[in-house]
Parts: sequence; C-alpha cells; structure tokens
Amino acid sequence: MTWLNLPSDHLFGIENLPYGVFSTAGTSPRVGVRIGDAVLDLPAVAEAAGMESAAVWRAGSLNPFLAEGRSAWRAAREWLTGILTDDSHRGAVEPHLHDVAGVTMHLPIEVADYVDFYASEHHATNVGRIFRPDSEPLTPNWKHLPIGYHGRAGTIVLSGTDIVRPSGQRKPPTADAPTFGPSARLDIEAELGFVVGGASRLGEPVALADTDEHLFGVVILNDWSARDIQAWEYVPLGPFLGKSFATSISPWVVTMDALRAARIPLPGQDPEPLEYLRGGEGEDGASTAYGLDIDYEVEWNGTVVARPNYRDMYWSPAQMLAHLTVNGATVRPGDLFASGTISGPEKDTRGCFLELSWSGQEPITLADGSQRTFLEDGDTVVMRATATGPDGARIGLGECVGTIRPARQE
Ligand code: CA
Repeated sequence: MTWLNLPSDHLFGIENLPYGVFSTAGTSPRVGVRIGDAVLDLPAVAEAAGMESAAVWRAGSLNPFLAEGRSAWRAAREWLTGILTDDSHRGAVEPHLHDVAGVTMHLPIEVADYVDFYASEHHATNVGRIFRPDSEPLTPNWKHLPIGYHGRAGTIVLSGTDIVRPSGQRKPPTADAPTFGPSARLDIEAELGFVVGGASRLGEPVALADTDEHLFGVVILNDWSARDIQAWEYVPLGPFLGKSFATSISPWVVTMDALRAARIPLPGQDPEPLEYLRGGEGEDGASTAYGLDIDYEVEWNGTVVARPNYRDMYWSPAQMLAHLTVNGATVRPGDLFASGTISGPEKDTRGCFLELSWSGQEPITLADGSQRTFLEDGDTVVMRATATGPDGARIGLGECVGTIRPARQE
C-alpha cells in the first residue's frame, strides 16, 4: 500500500510505476515516475536523498538510465517502491510530486534504432488475403522467423502530435500509371512498442536467455500507414514511405517488471522454430516463450471500433529481440521495436482499419452516424491499453492519441 491513498483500482498504482520525461513551466525536461495522478520528479527526490544516481535522471530522455542496464533498473524500482510505501519517507517525497494535469510530457526516449515486426498471425493472414488474394495468405517464412523491417527512428513522435496526411505515389490496380498526391487510404496500426536498454557488442547476438537484460519496458505505439502508397512501393523490399512519415508512442514506459503478472504462454508455435528461437529459461527461470495479457481499445472520433488483445500474438518479445540480433547486429540504449499490428481472430479484435473495413469494402459506422473506411482530415484516434497486474490489479499503459491534419499544399 502506498501512503498516497490511491483507490485499489487505480491504473497507475504502486505496482505500475512507469517512467516518462516531463517538465513544468520554466524548467528543463527530466525523468519522472507516474504514481496515481502525480508525477514524481526523480532527479529532485534522488538528489535530496544524496543519491549519485540522480544524474542519469536529470537527462531529457531515459537513454542514460537505459544504458545502466538491468541491475540499475531493479534497484530503482525497489527504492521507488520503498519510498512510496513507507510513510517515513512521505515528508521528503511529497514536495517532489507534481499533478500530472499540470506537467508537459516529452518523448520518453531518444530513439536509437527502430524496427517494426509483424508478429500477429491473424493480422498477417488478413493482410495477405487483401494484398495478395491469389497466393497463400502467410508467406513461407512467416512461421519460421519473426518478420520485420527497419523503420525511421527520427519520425517517432509523442502521443498528441498532429499527423499531417502524407503525399506520395500511388497506383490503383486498374490504373495504367502511378499518380502523385495525398494518401486516400490513411490507416492506423495498434501495436506494442518495446524499449530496449543495455548494449551488446557487434558480432555477438543477444541469446533468448539474456533478453530480460535488455527488455526495459513497453509503450502503446500507433504505426500510421498510408495503404495506397504502401501497396505500390512495398514489392520487393518492404514498407518505406507509406510508413516512415510518423509513428506515435504513448508517454509512459511501463516496465517489464510491472508486466510480470501479465506474462502468459504463447498461443502455440507449429512448426517448432529453430534452436535460437526456441523458448528457454530467462531471468529467474521464467520461460522466454511468453505472451502478454494486454487489452487494447481503439477509439475513432469517440467511438470504440476495436478491442484487440496482445495475448493472441504468435511470437514472443524475447524471440523478436533474439532474432533481431542473431546476425550479430548490436542493440543500443533507446532502441525501439514494435510488435506489428495486434489483431485477434474476431472482427472486433482487428487492430487496423484495413482489416476492420476489409480494404474499404465494409464501412464502419461511428456513434454520430457517420461512416468511415480510412482516416479523414480532422479525425482523431485514441488507443488505450491495460495489462493484468498482481492480485487482480490492472496496470495502465495510458493512451496514444493522434489527429489527422490535411496534406501540405505545394
Ligand atoms: Ca506495423
């Protein structure tokens, strides 16, 4: 129990303690921890306690803290839990709490490298049916390796940032030649983003058993996607300008420690993957073949249009990280990799509008009676997520919001 007297069902209770970067009027961005409806100024409270570690939290991003690695993350969580539960610390901590409504949030990490995976069998199958109706929906490699591509780290933006409709080349299948103009099929993808810490050396893969050392936490991620640009450009090298214009993430990084109770077995992998992707024992003997029980809600102009759950994902985050480094590629503090669209077996668990509207053939009716297939200018999408916590608690991931602005006129 925390001395903050939070209701037991608060999504940012003592079991959560996510990290973000915040500022108050006239001050520099620094690291904070969310507790209830407050943000704890981490460098301030650590400095007051005479801790040397205060310096890493003085930074305007989580990267220096991410660089310190797993033992520092654990020690910080233990210390935070202590000062927020033991009443004797109340007098020293309380002056450093700020009402969350009064602070400005910033991008929590300086994104190093960004990779986007494709880990939902339901999403990959649906997209295969829509984009390649004449072939098998899943490509022959799909169940042997977590497919991914390198995205654009520099266009990852904080939730709340407006999204300008991208322009580009598109060519409908029936047209003879491509044309240039604003995307007419602008979409979302509800995903989970994994924030990576620690570092590895070039040429040395991160083994499955060591992935806990590098997986720091998660954010809600919206991979905005221009389907018409994507469909024309993606063969044979994969997504490019149809994805790279913007990717939104939520401000609070919920740690993997806060998600321990959300770990569940994967839905099952058949055929068994190759040795380096086979679930083994990670930290504390726990299996590395875990999924996560995280409920999502996708709201379009105020109407909830989908409720995907992360439990349906085929590949585990540990497998994605092991695969991403198996060729000897390094990881760096601030790397971010995304899960791919989270879609389940039922229609209302599909995590993008391409699937929900079946490529525009089945419009979605919003609460105000209007119909949608893809995003229109002025539309707002809000993604929210909560995970299973210990003893019936829920762990909030917060929300990821974006509003579409018209394409730039040249
Ligand atoms: Ca994606």
